[in-house]
Parts: sequence; C-alpha cells; structure tokens
Amino acid sequence: MNTYPVTCPTCFEEFEVPLPAVTETPSEVDYDCEICCRPMRIFFENEWDEVTASAVGIHD
Ligand SMILES: [Zn+2]
Repeated sequence: MNTYPVTCPTCFEEFEVPLPAVTETPSEVDYDCEICCRPMRIFFENEWDEVTASAVGIHD
C-alpha cells in the first residue's frame, strides 16, 4: 500500500498515512496523529493520477 507523508497541524511532526485508490479520490477522512494523537482531517486529492494527502487541524 502506498503511503504519503503529512505534517500534523498540532505537533508539526511528519508521519505517513495510507493512500486510497486513485478512483476513490478526492476524499477526506478523520485521522488521529500517530505522534500526539490529536484528531485532524486528511484530504486526499488526485493530481495526474498521483494521490496526494494534506492534513488540516480540527478546532472544536
Ligand atoms: Zn501530532
């Protein structure tokens, strides 16, 4: 399975997240940081059949 590095918006540590299939993008998921365990939202996008991921913090 392919993974992609994202930077946690809370602790700014980088970690790898598993990527969905290209046909399942664009999409977004809730994810807990592997370092600080804070929740974030990860957006998967498709650029020229390459899936990329970016993390956005959840403020509640
Ligand atoms: Zn974190």
